[in-house]
Amino acid sequence: MDYDVLIIGAGSAGLSAALTLGRCLRRVLVADGGPPRNEQSPGVHGFLTRDGIRPAELLRLGQEQLKPYDTVEVKCLQIDTLERQGRGFRATGHGTADDAPAVITARRVLLATGVSDILPPLPGFRELWGRGVLHCPYCHGWEVRHQPLAVYGQGRTVTGLALLVSRWSRDVIVVTNGPGHLSSNARRRLRREKIGIREEPIKGLVGTLGRDLRCIQFADGSELERAALFLHAPQHQRTPLAANLGARLNSKGAVWVDSKLHTSIAGLYAAGDTKPGTQQALLAAADGNHAAIVINESLTREECPR
Ligand SMILES: Cc1cc2nc3c(=O)[nH]c(=O)nc-3n(C[C@H](O)[C@H](O)[C@H](O)COP(=O)(O)OP(=O)(O)OC[C@H]3O[C@@H](n4cnc5c(N)ncnc54)[C@H](O)[C@@H]3O)c2cc1C
Repeated sequence: MDYDVLIIGAGSAGLSAALTLGRCLRRVLVADGGPPRNEQSPGVHGFLTRDGIRPAELLRLGQEQLKPYDTVEVKCLQIDTLERQGRGFRATGHGTADDAPAVITARRVLLATGVSDILPPLPGFRELWGRGVLHCPYCHGWEVRHQPLAVYGQGRTVTGLALLVSRWSRDVIVVTNGPGHLSSNARRRLRREKIGIREEPIKGLVGTLGRDLRCIQFADGSELERAALFLHAPQHQRTPLAANLGARLNSKGAVWVDSKLHTSIAGLYAAGDTKPGTQQALLAAADGNHAAIVINESLTREECPR
């Protein structure tokens, strides 16, 4: 096998795992397939000692701190296929479109490939994503605190998110873009927190040059001025590698793992957003560290049989 561990993904989870495995003298390849999920955000918040750092700078520091560990390689490599080979794995990938495909074999694989957010197909959502359109008040609520805010969505999801966001601002309005499918109990809870509901169809979002939200335009021509809009967007996995290997997924499509971040496929681990649970950069980094320790111990058991 070329490597002890192939880490697929060079976000917070993957780089953190590489650091710990490098410190274990393990031969590691980190396949860096491109930007992280939060690429469009101006800052990573709530990351101890790095509050507000630009996403690209956080990962640049992560890669820089791998340099002393000469058993760790980071390559620009998109992994396209992953299959079992004996007790390990064989992966293929490509760098740029012109490169010959790379073949990598490894004893263990850590999937740290993250997720993508599926935004409503309305003008402005994609353009303002990460700045005027936000996914998480724990990440960005403080930046828009006490300002007029909107929460987009329907049904129970929007109700829970609106009640949460109302801890950051007393001026919150739910916008549902058509029938909100809100139960009478949901309407009562929203009313109690003085959260308004607008169920008219939305034409689009209008932002500023700095990608802040200026207003929501409704199909009837009316406008609602808001400083930011929150939503819980559906997600999909960045790669089908786990599914193609037959790994178990949960009902939301996340890669199932046990308490040691082991997937249902022997030797395949998953860390960060790709697996179920709260999605935060710091938690992804902690996952990477955890997975690295579990993997190193599994390799040690294989090398030192009873
Ligand atoms: C707009 C936005 C703002 C956010 N703000 C915050 C915040 O302020 N604070 C916070 O804690 N969290 C924030 N988050 C959440 C945070 O971005 C994620 O929790 C974190 O990025 C998860 O890290 P990860 O390593 O699991 O995945 P990612 O950071 O998404 O990294 C996955 C990596 O895998 C790579 N990859 C995917 N497929 C392949 C492949 N086939 N081959 C090789 N590489 C591959 C990707 O290119 C990517 O680099 C934000 C999210 C969004 C969307």
